[in-house]
Amino acid sequence: MRGLVLFDFGGTLDADGSRWSVRFHAAYQAAGGKQAFAAFDRAFRESDRALERLSGIERLGFRAMVDAQTALLLPRLTDGAGLPARTIADHFHTATCAVVRRNEVLLQQLHQSYHLGVVSNFTGNLELCLEELGVMRYFAVVADSGRVGITKPDPRLFQHALGWPGLVSTPAWMVGDNYDSDIRPAAALGLSTVWLAPASEKPRDKNLPTARISTLSDLARVLDS
Ligand SMILES: [Mg+2]
Repeated sequence: MRGLVLFDFGGTLDADGSRWSVRFHAAYQAAGGKQAFAAFDRAFRESDRALERLSGIERLGFRAMVDAQTALLLPRLTDGAGLPARTIADHFHTATCAVVRRNEVLLQQLHQSYHLGVVSNFTGNLELCLEELGVMRYFAVVADSGRVGITKPDPRLFQHALGWPGLVSTPAWMVGDNYDSDIRPAAALGLSTVWLAPASEKPRDKNLPTARISTLSDLARVLDS
């Protein structure tokens, strides 16, 4: 084994640097939703908090979770009541599954040379979601904040993964789309970092990240160089 590669989930393994709120907004607009992103995003954040409190969330797989989030989101939007929840959930789900399937090729390849893990701010059901998406088999450790009780950027969520028994944890890489939650704390722990972000986004620190990519498909090239 050549080391450990840790991934963020949302916006990283399931999209090329695009957050759930941005992708849900696209699905909502495609279904006829009219609210601009700023107002939509406020409602989306509220639905996120409601999702965290949802009874039984820890037992929801990926599609069920997307459906639950849609159901929590629509009543919080001024035009949500008249929109087709199923169509919005389908749109988000289909687009996400397509990216995960594409990324599976990369995971399959990296899995032969590296231990792989996920470090994510999630709701306690990430392993179930990864199973349903068909990629859980590639990960030796999943640090889900909802399970561990620690949220990024707290370094202890990374340490939870780094200290997992049986892992080759040096050298270690962190790959993520959120500069403050993924890149900064991982770098502070001595990990090499790969920031998945559009070129228009500027890093805020000197010498960070170690590398940047705009599509996860480019990760193998970075790790090999
Ligand atoms: Mg993310």
